[in-house]
Amino acid sequence: MVIDVLERGDLPFPRSLPEFQRLFPDEAACAAYLERARWGDGFVCQHCGSPGDPYRFANRPGVCRCRHCNRDTSLTAGTVMERTHTPLSVWFWAAYLVASQTPGMSAVQFQRQLGLPRYETAFQILHKLRAGMVRPDQDQIGGNPGEYVEADETYVGGRTRGKGRGVQDMVLVAGAVEVKQRKQGGSLNKRRTGRYAGRVRLAVAPDRSAKSLSGFIERVVTPGTTIITDDWSGYAALGKQGYLHTTVAERGDVQVAETFLPIIHLVFSNLKSWLRGIHHGVSPQHLQAYLNECTFRFNRRFYPFNPRRPLQIPPSVAGSNSPSRRRQDG
Ligand SMILES: [Zn+2]
Repeated sequence: MVIDVLERGDLPFPRSLPEFQRLFPDEAACAAYLERARWGDGFVCQHCGSPGDPYRFANRPGVCRCRHCNRDTSLTAGTVMERTHTPLSVWFWAAYLVASQTPGMSAVQFQRQLGLPRYETAFQILHKLRAGMVRPDQDQIGGNPGEYVEADETYVGGRTRGKGRGVQDMVLVAGAVEVKQRKQGGSLNKRRTGRYAGRVRLAVAPDRSAKSLSGFIERVVTPGTTIITDDWSGYAALGKQGYLHTTVAERGDVQVAETFLPIIHLVFSNLKSWLRGIHHGVSPQHLQAYLNECTFRFNRRFYPFNPRRPLQIPPSVAGSNSPSRRRQDG
């Protein structure tokens, strides 16, 4: 089940603090919103399947009780909010903050804004929201006629861990992005070429071997898609794997890379400045979650109330939007 609040006319999405205040003044209002998000056509008991208005309790706002079988259904079951002691209103504030701040927030800022006594609580909420940003449909990118995909990999600086000055844990990130062409003369056509990023996939890669890099492509890009990479051997077999593979020569030449793989480099540079600016370095074990968030922000959609998938395996990342638009926002 996917709930995209931006596509549900009956689920208002607050655009400002006063609006937020009006929509979610208390726990009951948050609970009512969740109920509406989940059962657009009215409550249905998850135990006996009976429809009909449930019992609601002022002291237990997260629960609906079936009038037919008298059993309880949790409004947060299957979402990132399941089984936490944090009030719904705090989750709603958190989701609003995360969704409305274009560059995202650090856990410290988050803790301060929400007035949470414990840093760990702030970190956990943020981390769960981030995990919930993974788009539920894990479709492959590419496959659209007339479009192509740029793929490359880059090193992202990790956090220095007492290894001496300047020593960092660098983590390899593989990336692939759809390149789309805007219709000529459109008012949104800021880039002279009219090219812009479609959906993005980013994943932590163990190394630069063909197994890692071509394996990443196989997972995230539809076979038959035209792919442009540099001439690194890690991509050499893509033609045999069913892609229309074009290489640009001279690996490591920055000029060449920016000329022939401009969109994926834009994605990488956005990713790096975002990680540097907001999070001051990210420890390697959390990097995939940050990649998910970064990719998610391309799309500027937010699904904080969606039931989560049982297990999200990298490289499971969200859809995207134009990085040039993202830059304007930031
Ligand atoms: Zn029932």
